[in-house]
Amino acid sequence: MAGYDQTLEPFLWRAEKLYPDREIVSRTHEGITRSTYAEYGDQVRRLANALEDAGIETGDRVATFCWNHDRHFETYFAVPSMGAQLHTINPLLPAEHVQYIVENAADRIVFVDPSLAEKLAATYDEAAFESVEKFVVVGSEVPDVELPDAVDYDSFVAGHATEYEWPELDQEASAGMCYTSGTTGKPKGVEYTQQMLWSHTMAMLTPQGLGIEDSDVVMPVVPMFHVNAWGMPYATTAAGAKHVYPGPAPEPADLAQLIEEEGVTITAGVPTVWLGLLEYLQENTVDLSSLETIVIGGAAAPRSVIERFDELGVEVLHAWGMTETSPVGTVAHIKADLQDAPAEVRHEKRSKQGLVAPGLEFKVVDDEGNDVAWDDDAAQDFGELLIRGPWVTDSYFERPDADEDSFDGSWLRTGDVVTVDDDGYVKIVDRTKDVIKSGGEWISSQELENAVMAHDAVAEAAVIGVPHERYQERPVGIVVMAADATISKDELESELVESIREEYPKWWAPDAFVYVEEIPKTATGKFSKKDLREEFGDRSLVEGEAPPDRE
Ligand code: ADP
Repeated sequence: MAGYDQTLEPFLWRAEKLYPDREIVSRTHEGITRSTYAEYGDQVRRLANALEDAGIETGDRVATFCWNHDRHFETYFAVPSMGAQLHTINPLLPAEHVQYIVENAADRIVFVDPSLAEKLAATYDEAAFESVEKFVVVGSEVPDVELPDAVDYDSFVAGHATEYEWPELDQEASAGMCYTSGTTGKPKGVEYTQQMLWSHTMAMLTPQGLGIEDSDVVMPVVPMFHVNAWGMPYATTAAGAKHVYPGPAPEPADLAQLIEEEGVTITAGVPTVWLGLLEYLQENTVDLSSLETIVIGGAAAPRSVIERFDELGVEVLHAWGMTETSPVGTVAHIKADLQDAPAEVRHEKRSKQGLVAPGLEFKVVDDEGNDVAWDDDAAQDFGELLIRGPWVTDSYFERPDADEDSFDGSWLRTGDVVTVDDDGYVKIVDRTKDVIKSGGEWISSQELENAVMAHDAVAEAAVIGVPHERYQERPVGIVVMAADATISKDELESELVESIREEYPKWWAPDAFVYVEEIPKTATGKFSKKDLREEFGDRSLVEGEAPPDRE
């Protein structure tokens, strides 16, 4: 038996001992701040003392309502290592969801950014926040907002010792918690144990994971309130690498500046972030020479984005995951056997969601629960992805109703429809609820989005199924045209239809295109299909005969 459990604290201990001078850089509301692992260790222990003094005990929940910065990162080690549970709240969720999850999680202390304090005050509800004893505003003063028992961070930690005797924790102890954004129904809480976060961290360090090394400069753009910024702060510490945090609501210009000035080598975020950066790069000169890898996940990385970054000398690593999988489950590395394959084949593999991370197992089943073949040719061999492993949860927090639909023994039913090719690359075809069912066949909304976004004149695009009398549903494209597009809408539509018909069955081509200024996004920065369906789910868009070229 091991003499010590799998817990997070040894990662911090090692970084502090082996890399005391390596930096943690952060864009904050007060400008750029810098510290070292040596200073960070002291700050983490000082925070643990302050929390203990405030009455936080083993198993209590401490919440954060914060962007990505060094103080938020302090809570990442202080809270779980003292035996409490770090509950990161997504500040972009609607107020009623925040109220629900604070009440459901019974948080005792909430850390909040100054720039989000007003928003939290507007969300505050005495009954829902009954468990909350204190709000700690991450700064040196408390802004003039209506939050009871608010204290500024500097005062909260002032006078506390920088020594702290960490308890010996069981690896089953709860360490973290995150709610899914609840695109349908109430958000569901996922709890992370010490062992889940430890094993996810170790997998991310491997070359088959994210391959983070001590020479790396890591900038998670994916928010720290969303599944621990995909576990990057933990993996970066475990590797002894430099951290860069982009702070409150970073714009493409902020990201470009941090990449240039801090020498970022690896960064990560949802596709919309990188679409924004690419647009910025069209008008501005940015030195990207340090940047080796962009991890894209959370939603499908458009192939056009992967190719445009390739041209700029930056490799996109496409990854798939969920709140329930801590989150990384697959990463689209090129297998050694495929390194010499034609460029087209390698591009195709890299645009899939990838190879399962070592330590996890998956299967793909059809509606009757039969295994679906791993097969290159069978385009219609779709099935639902089920996954299990040490960092995949087996239940939701206090939601036995949801557990019944989502878990099958140790298997998590992901709700993602996938194909798997002969080489084992998983490709997400759609979410079960987004797939378009037309004339008894399936159409992948994600494939169509990729195809539409590959056009130069398109900045962003989503495709939804709209009810149709004869075909049940027909696809409709919602398009934001690129700012510099010169083509007319009619010309664009016929070019899009032509290219889709070349690549896919001709009845996949959307019956109609709608042009909008912006596509609504969810609280995790993905296209909100639910909002689009509400706004554009009108059958009149597609009723009657389909346009002749799309029959
Ligand atoms: P939320 O549902 O709160 O936005 P999650 O991170 O839990 O946040 O969402 C997980 C889902 O996101 C997956 O089930 C899948 O549908 C989608 N997803 C994640 N990564 C990818 C990807 N690389 N390509 C396509 N879809 C993805």
